[in-house]
Amino acid sequence: MSLIVQKYGGSSVADAESIKRVAKRIVETRRAGNDVVVVVSAMGDTTDELLDLAGEVTPFPEPRELDMLLTAGERISMALLAMTIKGMGMDARSFTGSQAGMITDSQHGAARIVDVTPVRLREALDEGSIVIVAGFQGFNRDSRDITTLGRGGSDTSAVALAAALDADMCEIYTDVDGVFTADPRVVKKATKIDRITAEEMLELAAAGSKVLHLRAVEFARRHGVTLHVRSSFNNSEGTLVVNPQEGENVEEAIIAGVAADLSEAKITVVGVPDIPGKAAQIFTILGKAGANIDMIVQNVSAAETGLTDISFTLPKAQGPSALQALRAEKDAVGFDTLQYDDQIGKLAVVGAGMRSNAGVSAQLFQALSDAGINIEMISTSEIRISVVTRADTINDAVRVVHTAFGLDGDQDAVVYAGTGR
Ligand code: ADP
Ligand code: ASP
Ligand code: MG
Repeated sequence: MSLIVQKYGGSSVADAESIKRVAKRIVETRRAGNDVVVVVSAMGDTTDELLDLAGEVTPFPEPRELDMLLTAGERISMALLAMTIKGMGMDARSFTGSQAGMITDSQHGAARIVDVTPVRLREALDEGSIVIVAGFQGFNRDSRDITTLGRGGSDTSAVALAAALDADMCEIYTDVDGVFTADPRVVKKATKIDRITAEEMLELAAAGSKVLHLRAVEFARRHGVTLHVRSSFNNSEGTLVVNPQEGENVEEAIIAGVAADLSEAKITVVGVPDIPGKAAQIFTILGKAGANIDMIVQNVSAAETGLTDISFTLPKAQGPSALQALRAEKDAVGFDTLQYDDQIGKLAVVGAGMRSNAGVSAQLFQALSDAGINIEMISTSEIRISVVTRADTINDAVRVVHTAFGLDGDQDAVVYAGTGR
């Protein structure tokens, strides 16, 4: 008997009809002779609606209470799904994150899984039950409080359970047919990828492809879990995210895909003395303020002043606290001013074949230049090139780059549901 973990995203369980449709699929998997553990997200845009509601009652919701609020979303869908399956004559039982043994650190809103002790899930499976688990949530042993794993975190719940239960397969059901060469909501001619390495998927997820939660991909790679990303609206094969063994020959496309991210902002520290230790000082201040820095660019200093500018990007949500921390140390660092720009977009092209192919950057810059799109910052890794542009040009940028690298397919990609929120 195989053990299959299935995760259903919000748009797959958006209303009663969808829950019944998903329940049928789960029952079929069970009837085919598999043990089934289901991880479920909150219905539709529930999490966003709860966040909006919190924002209406207070500008800065207390993180502990926000997690209490948001975890209610998954609790609703898990119970509805379990009772639907029961109504279809199969045994099913729902569990919250803490009942499922999802132990996390104490960081509300961005908790990391530190241990998974799925004792109750094992018992329920042994008793022949289908197990339904609320995604996105965990429990911290020290504070004895409920936590959440960050937006999109149900994917990570599913992978962590698949690893802890030594599942044979972890299926991520969503509102598109798999992982595409770009977001199908932006690029109509995006092509579905049949097989992608975890390494490339990691870069795409980190660059903003929200089809998979970044930490889910990290977890899957570390624990050797194979992911199958597919649509809950049909039976088509989706995308396999694989972990090739060392020496295994995988055909590597030069470019696997294009991703975009509008969640970052840029800070420029203007007039920094160009002497040893200043960058260390600035980024120590930012580190202490909890800022996750992404790209960094330092200009050549002007010979006459001996001053330079340092720009970096970070999540918009961390912008205000980073600015505040830098302002507090202005005299100690000796810079002139700070500039804040939250109208940037980041585009990344990802592909393992880049390692052995020169000229990818030139092709990228040419495509953007032909479209009249200005590049403000550039950074590269072994298998990724990222550029910062204006936010309002990002979708056009993704489309022209997708075409320039020959990724456009013959057919239009289908988006089955969801609001893309
Ligand atoms: P779920 O609610 O099922 O977790 P998400 O909204 O989190 O679904 O993720 C699915 C969405 O990810 C798709 O609807 C699509 O708009 C978006 N997306 C972004 N980049 C990609 C990509 N490269 N391939 C597929 N989908 C992508
Ligand atoms: N419901 C949560 C969110 O919208 C978690 C998830 O769907 O993965 O972010
Ligand atoms: Mg998601």
